[in-house]
Amino acid sequence: MVKRNVNFNPGPAALPLDVLKIVQEELLDYRGTGISIIESSHRSKEFEAVNNQTIALARELFGLGDNYHVLFLGGGASTQFDLIPLNFIGAGQTAAYVDTGDFAARALKECQIVAKVHIAFSSREEKYRRVPKMDEIKYPEDSAYLHVCSNNTIEGTQFQEFPDTGKVPLVADMSSDIASRRRDFGKFSLFYAGAQKNLGPAGVTLVVIRDDFLAIANKGLPTLLSYKTHADNKSLYNTPPVFGIYIMKLVLEWIKNQGGLEGVEKINEAKKNLLYSAIDAAPDFYRNPVDKDSRSWMNVTMRLPTEELENKFIADAQKEGLLGLKGHRSVGGIRFSIYNAVSLEDIRKTVDFMERFHKSA
Ligand code: PMP
Repeated sequence: MVKRNVNFNPGPAALPLDVLKIVQEELLDYRGTGISIIESSHRSKEFEAVNNQTIALARELFGLGDNYHVLFLGGGASTQFDLIPLNFIGAGQTAAYVDTGDFAARALKECQIVAKVHIAFSSREEKYRRVPKMDEIKYPEDSAYLHVCSNNTIEGTQFQEFPDTGKVPLVADMSSDIASRRRDFGKFSLFYAGAQKNLGPAGVTLVVIRDDFLAIANKGLPTLLSYKTHADNKSLYNTPPVFGIYIMKLVLEWIKNQGGLEGVEKINEAKKNLLYSAIDAAPDFYRNPVDKDSRSWMNVTMRLPTEELENKFIADAQKEGLLGLKGHRSVGGIRFSIYNAVSLEDIRKTVDFMERFHKSA
């Protein structure tokens, strides 16, 4: 038996063991072809089947019709920070951005390179300790779109609901909470996520675009920078990140076997409840620095009374096989990234460690 540690890395992050085992099993000889899927042509019938199944699974799990294009692109979520303004802001138009954390701010800054941005809400002055209430988000009616980041990976905050934007297309970076709970995905004209947290390995980014939004995308862009190129070719205009797409298919099948988004949502809710309860039970020692109603289900941030204690917590946890707990370098502290592949049992172990650490401190 291979020893597997509890992996709290924020991304690349834990993958389901069942998925890794299938990858291992199928790697040398993919379904009797005598070669692996990553050695197959992206035009082969084997890979085309993988590509089509991954698209179908994504539509099924997110509850989307075939009016949504499902794309698998390279370049990470960060490249979408550039492609979205290029594709969707018309001459002289303004786009609206909600600024709730480091990645939300990066998206906004990239947009400012090519267009005027309206800041629809910002919690920057409050150290990003919360996301807005729906009625705090304000933007002009003629905005090209409203961009939100559904889960702020570094700060540990998450939208629990999304605004009704009427005529203004709603766009979301869902990199760190995609496929972790039910959402009304039909509200979004576009959503995207780097795969490396809840969907698979680094190297592939899921981009989902509704056809009415794609229809108004800017024309005349360089070929590879145009979402339409990728949509028209089912992401096969050029060589796609084949390994990532293949693993994403396995991860989506795994989610389906967990009872779909409803199934993983139940587990994720139990996980975050257990962890936040352990933090709240020791208020003189552990502290979650964000507003309660903005707490993330995926990235749970925590402070201890001193940095020295935080470092000891991380080191002692590592000795017990609890890895990847260091908070982002820009904010410090502890961060538990508890994506889908981290189990409820893993959280029980962690809470037990936290109780012992507190007693011995
Ligand atoms: N958005 C969010 C919410 C993220 O957490 C990250 C990565 N941690 C990114 C965007 C950037 O993703 P990538 O590294 O794939 O460009």
